Amino acid sequence: MIDAFAAILDGPGVLTGADIGPRYTNTRGHGVAGTPLCVLRPKSTIEVSHILKLCHDVGQAVVPQGGMSGLVGGGAPLGGEVVISLERMNAIEEFDADGRTLSVQSGVVLQTAHEYCEERGFMLPLDLGARGSATIGGVISTNAGGVRVIRYGMMRESVLGLEAVLPDGTILSSMNKMLKNNAGYDLKHLFIGSEGTLGIVTRAVCRLRPKPRTVNTAFVGINDFADVVAFLGYLESVLGGELGSFEVMWQGYDAFVRERCPSLRPPLKAGYGFYVLIETLGNQPDSDQGKLEQILADALERGLVADAALAQSDQQRAAFWAIRENAGEGFRTLGPMVSFDVSMPIKSMGTFGERITASLFQQYPGSTCLVLGHMGDGNLHVVAAVGSGTAEDKERVNDTVYSVIRDLGGSVSAEHGIGTEKKDYLSWSRSPPEIALMQTLKRAIDPKGILNPGKIF
Ligand SMILES: Cc1cc2nc3c(=O)[nH]c(=O)nc-3n(C[C@H](O)[C@H](O)[C@H](O)COP(=O)(O)OP(=O)(O)OC[C@H]3O[C@@H](n4cnc5c(N)ncnc54)[C@H](O)[C@@H]3O)c2cc1C
Repeated sequence: MIDAFAAILDGPGVLTGADIGPRYTNTRGHGVAGTPLCVLRPKSTIEVSHILKLCHDVGQAVVPQGGMSGLVGGGAPLGGEVVISLERMNAIEEFDADGRTLSVQSGVVLQTAHEYCEERGFMLPLDLGARGSATIGGVISTNAGGVRVIRYGMMRESVLGLEAVLPDGTILSSMNKMLKNNAGYDLKHLFIGSEGTLGIVTRAVCRLRPKPRTVNTAFVGINDFADVVAFLGYLESVLGGELGSFEVMWQGYDAFVRERCPSLRPPLKAGYGFYVLIETLGNQPDSDQGKLEQILADALERGLVADAALAQSDQQRAAFWAIRENAGEGFRTLGPMVSFDVSMPIKSMGTFGERITASLFQQYPGSTCLVLGHMGDGNLHVVAAVGSGTAEDKERVNDTVYSVIRDLGGSVSAEHGIGTEKKDYLSWSRSPPEIALMQTLKRAIDPKGILNPGKIF
């Protein structure tokens, strides 16, 4: 079979044995990877099609991979699969300024696409911490979210068309460039967020937006959760759609940053109940900063916020974002951790934070529970470290957090997907009829079950 793959691929596209580097089995601590049969690195859609046809004929399992930055083990081989890495399919094919579209192969790295668009006065709005390694195919297949969802939506909102190869090798080219196209089912949505279980995304047409001329960033301290919610409502009402990010960090996270992350410099004093990083994206260089300053002064006067710092330079802006995104040095001191990506109605978030913290403390005195996230999108991340990494304790921590989510009518996965990590909890957020229809779709498109088996279900 390896020889047959080598005959399909152009150049050094087949890796076996010791040549399979750690990149292809890196789970980032989420699940355990097995050894794949081989890694294939195609350069074109037709090569992907030929590989899949061959695998389909003999019932060979396949795992698609992008930048391997996923956080639920979705791209990790479980053992014996053919890995198809899209890393060499990294061509930017067409930029259309009038239609505001960018057509790419799916292995283009998100940051490369960002830089390409920004040089031309546009932006691909989806942005996240893994921008340097995540690929367009990966962010489509996970329907990634990130730090601009409140303004521009998740990746789904930035995909106009795509091309995917079905498990039997059929090429489904749906490279639509229009905002409107209601001619029957919009099939692209089958592949957005389905984590490589229904098809391999090989190309895409991304929707671009004009690059904002101004970016203003502030760090705000607030005492009560009710005021955080009121502040978000206030900003949305006065900013007229310019709010780009609304990231909230609970007090425990701020204390953790001060204690365990010496390279980070919080701009406000310690002790507020919540810290909020807000960013506005505007088009009035002469007045946007002054406008945000005035809005913050009004919020202070109304008692909605207790303190605020407005970034005065790009360096300060980066330092504010580092507090939200770069706490890795602190995480590494925590020992075994369980991390969560959950969503719930915004009004329930205060209760969620209180309930999970109290419950984990009761079960594991001295444990650490950090809560932060994209609150404007109803999405929180939790990092729990209870001093033990056993499977039993991990399950107990998962059950603790997800049972609160279930009570609040939330989702066990806001943006990272299910992969292998959250399979046991899919039914805590989706009803039996919903899961049955997902499985019916999977069987219809992949009757032999060769594409990313063992993921989601
Ligand atoms: C530091 C950091 C910050 C992050 N922040 C965020 C965040 O804010 N928001 C967020 O949503 N995610 C975030 N993530 C998670 C991750 O970046 C996203 O899930 C991203 O979309 C994965 O892209 P990737 O190319 O690395 O895909 P991979 O990890 O390679 O794959 C992810 C899934 O997609 C499938 N897949 C990949 N490419 C294809 C393809 N071409 N066709 C079909 N299936 C494919 C894989 O099989 C797998 O199931 C973060 C990760 C890190 C490490």
